[in-house]
Amino acid sequence: MTCLVASVLLLILFFMCISVVQHFDTLNLLDSRSVMGDLGWVAYPKNGWEEIGEVDEDYAPIHTYQVCRVMEQNQNNWLHTNWILTEGAQRVYIELKFTLRDCNSLPGGVGTCKETFNMYYYETDEEDRAMKESRYIKVDTIAADESFTELDLGDRVMKLNTEVRDLGPLSRKGFYLAFQDLGACIALVSVRVFYKRCPFLVKSLAEFPDTIPGSEASQLVEVVGHCINNSMPLYEPPRMHCSADGEWLVPIGKCVCKPGFEEMSGYCQVCKVGFYRSQLESSACSKCPPHSVARQTGATSCSCEDEYHKIDSDPPNMACTRPPSAPRNAISNVNETSVFLEWSIPMETGGRKDVRYNILCSRVLPDGRGLEECGPNVRFLPRRVGLSNTSVMVADLQSHTNYSFLLEAVNGVSEMAKDYTKQYVTLNVTTNQAAPSPVSVVRKGYTGKSSIGLSWAEPDRPNGIILEYEIKYFEKEQDSSYTIIKSKETEMVVEGLKASSVYIFQVRARTSAGYGAFSRRFEFQTSPYLTATSERAQASIIAVAITLALVLLAVVAGFLLSGRSCCNHIHVYLVRCGYSKAKQDPEEEKMHFHNGHIKFPGVRTYIDPLTYEDPNQAVHEFAQEIDVSFISIERIIGAGEFGEVCCGPLRLPGKREIQVAIKTLKAGYTEQQRRDFLWEASIMGQFNHPNIIRLEGVVTKSKPVMIITEYMENGSLDTFLKKNDGQFTVIQLVGMLRGIASGMRYLSDMGYVHRDLAARNILVNSNLVCKVSDFGLSRVLEDDAEAAYTTRGGKIPIRWTAPEAIAYRKFTSASDVWSYGIVMWEVMSYGERPYWEMSNQDVIKAVEENYRLPGPMDCPEALYHLMMDCWQRERTNRPKFDEIVCLLDKLIRNPSSLKKLVNSSHRVSNLLVEHASAEGDCSARTKSVGEWLDSIKMGRYTELFVEGGYSSLEMVTQMTSEDLRRVGVNLAGHQKKIITSIQEMRVHMNNTNSPINI
Ligand code: AMP
Repeated sequence: MTCLVASVLLLILFFMCISVVQHFDTLNLLDSRSVMGDLGWVAYPKNGWEEIGEVDEDYAPIHTYQVCRVMEQNQNNWLHTNWILTEGAQRVYIELKFTLRDCNSLPGGVGTCKETFNMYYYETDEEDRAMKESRYIKVDTIAADESFTELDLGDRVMKLNTEVRDLGPLSRKGFYLAFQDLGACIALVSVRVFYKRCPFLVKSLAEFPDTIPGSEASQLVEVVGHCINNSMPLYEPPRMHCSADGEWLVPIGKCVCKPGFEEMSGYCQVCKVGFYRSQLESSACSKCPPHSVARQTGATSCSCEDEYHKIDSDPPNMACTRPPSAPRNAISNVNETSVFLEWSIPMETGGRKDVRYNILCSRVLPDGRGLEECGPNVRFLPRRVGLSNTSVMVADLQSHTNYSFLLEAVNGVSEMAKDYTKQYVTLNVTTNQAAPSPVSVVRKGYTGKSSIGLSWAEPDRPNGIILEYEIKYFEKEQDSSYTIIKSKETEMVVEGLKASSVYIFQVRARTSAGYGAFSRRFEFQTSPYLTATSERAQASIIAVAITLALVLLAVVAGFLLSGRSCCNHIHVYLVRCGYSKAKQDPEEEKMHFHNGHIKFPGVRTYIDPLTYEDPNQAVHEFAQEIDVSFISIERIIGAGEFGEVCCGPLRLPGKREIQVAIKTLKAGYTEQQRRDFLWEASIMGQFNHPNIIRLEGVVTKSKPVMIITEYMENGSLDTFLKKNDGQFTVIQLVGMLRGIASGMRYLSDMGYVHRDLAARNILVNSNLVCKVSDFGLSRVLEDDAEAAYTTRGGKIPIRWTAPEAIAYRKFTSASDVWSYGIVMWEVMSYGERPYWEMSNQDVIKAVEENYRLPGPMDCPEALYHLMMDCWQRERTNRPKFDEIVCLLDKLIRNPSSLKKLVNSSHRVSNLLVEHASAEGDCSARTKSVGEWLDSIKMGRYTELFVEGGYSSLEMVTQMTSEDLRRVGVNLAGHQKKIITSIQEMRVHMNNTNSPINI
């Protein structure tokens, strides 16, 4: 216990010491108690003050001066100290300890008794012990707080008074103090004279010396500190202010360690090897950032490892970086003479955020004569070099021309990396086929009663070889029906007109890119009678016509013999927005109208291999036989229905080597299996389109039998999307969808119905070009694991198939459009399974009840509307593939139209959406955190959420990005996905005030 008390006392003393040392120093100029011998002060008169040896309350010897001449009148007793040197102090403090006798306690009759005494001082630069009252200046009259009595004396109780007075300003070297007694009974126990000083201080790495305060109580003495070793002022020299009380006040500025050093325990320590400190503002040495080193102590910066660089503007804590790798997934979208190039950021950005892209455009000269740089007429939007976005529009190219675009990624250090070979990706593009410009003038030639001769000039910009002209005409104000005739020349005679009637004529040109716009309308009138010239002309026309008729007869006969027909004269009535046929026999309609569009002869039609008696003949009609020696099988890339799918190079004589996919027919096949296997080649070989998988040929003359197709580096679309979840821009996804739609448009134009259009049957190449594949057994669907038997016996991939095709096998291009809508949904949800784990029966039922898939996460509204259109129950209401292509092209050209995303209520993940309203069903059940995470494909974090205390969706809605990081969701993409879903949940809660249904 005693110990404890002692230690507590010690502790108090310790803190008292600290606070004294910390705040101010007091320095004694005089302490009467510390003087061992006589004090030697001067008393005047001699019988006044006298020096007496005493003991204090602790019985320690003390010197006191006493006076007690209270019995005598007119006392004036002076006592002055020795000369006290000020030591430079301008203000000093005097602490007096004394006792004073209570006058009332004295025997009566001592009327002169005083209870005070006076204190004086006299400043002088020299010692002068002569006592001259007049020199002294009064400091104060000192009274006792407590005086003592006889009784106290008897009890030996010392009622000690302590009084402190200050003195200043002092300007001399020293001074004397004097005490004047006018008749009191006083014992001056101790006199201490001291001054205060701001003590030496080290603060913020700056030293401040001992400083004597100013003479005035309110005065502050400004002191500039000195930075200690290896430190330097930060912005301005450090300053402190010494107060009259000896305290340091108002610190301004500070010192910090020089670069290469760090502050530790109040000193600057050198940075260790591998560490650096560059900036005065940073406090500690930092580890060198990645790819940089500091090989010596005291580094102010780190130097980059080989092949890594830094530019001046890079902050010191930034890793050393290097040039980026080539851009990835570059795709091109040709629109007539414009090319939209798009790519993904390089795999390796070199560690920098300032990746930019440059485009080098070259025109491929005909006949392999090399490349020529694109001239200044080619426009790059927004620009050619220094692109920060991953796309560019190149416009004003020449039509029908091959171009090669070198796409280069650079960053801030590319210039510094001298030895670095720039990495490009090359995109070879052939411009289309810009449609020809309109014919500007149509002139009238001779005019008859029933005929008008027309002539016109080739369009200013034919953009290719003009294949033919189309002349549209109708009687004025009768424009509900018109006639179209064709001509290969720039003139023709239109016959069969009414006499004296005004006709409107328009002409347009066609190249392989399609039709240009019609010319403006030209009005010409037929004659009321036969003119001489026209009759002459007619006579010659009749002669020509007879000759032509004979020739035609021969041609027609030839066509009839070969089983084909040709027609170039089509009459149509225009009925409001659609076309309908008139003046034609039903057979003609079948030939010329397809999907509501005029289909001209010359567009090839798909021929069902079934129509061949000998399937081998069909194969060799459409597929080239390849000698197996030209093929090397390098590796297996997949498993097909009939055997392995491999890849390897194909080296055809005289052609450059290309990589191909090789489908093999496994040994031990039956003749039927061989036929079925080759079936696909017979179909594929008929197609020639950039979005249809290209058949290179077949190997049938040796074993194993093989089908050789172009190689698609990224394999099937569904797997590719799952692997690259969230990695593509919307424009890239729409670009893929556009490709698929374009391939499907071609197939539907060919009259081919795919029946098994699904992401698994789309292949993707290294440029993200999607191609429709899997034609093998599209009518039987035996090879598709998704295909299920319907009640009518056929096997159908239920989730992808239109209701009429499931119900009564009505497979048409319109049912392919339905499947295309499902593919859109698969693409936009990165390979999610349509209708998730619902059973096929439930899917059929739901679709029948008009429920549809909800919009995928982050899906642009425009695309979801298109999907919903594809899923119209009434098949004629579904869009046609050419309308889909047209819409997607529009969206690509106008990316802002893709900004608006599907309303959250469409994204109810395990719900189907009422088709009619396209609004979310509100009957969703409340989900668990796990189910919710599963629904946004983030199920892997379920455990972390629960471990982190987020066990209900209510709690989840309170989460911030910081909380996500804390539970362990570290990938930025995943954080974004989860936060977006949380925000939607919040909106949903606010809107519905209902439990969270997601
Ligand atoms: P299939 O028998 O056509 O369904 O092909 C089986 C698998 O082989 C596909 O899912 C693809 O992963 C792969 N495959 C087929 N054809 C190609 C190709 N042309 N290029 C790359 N991979 C292919």
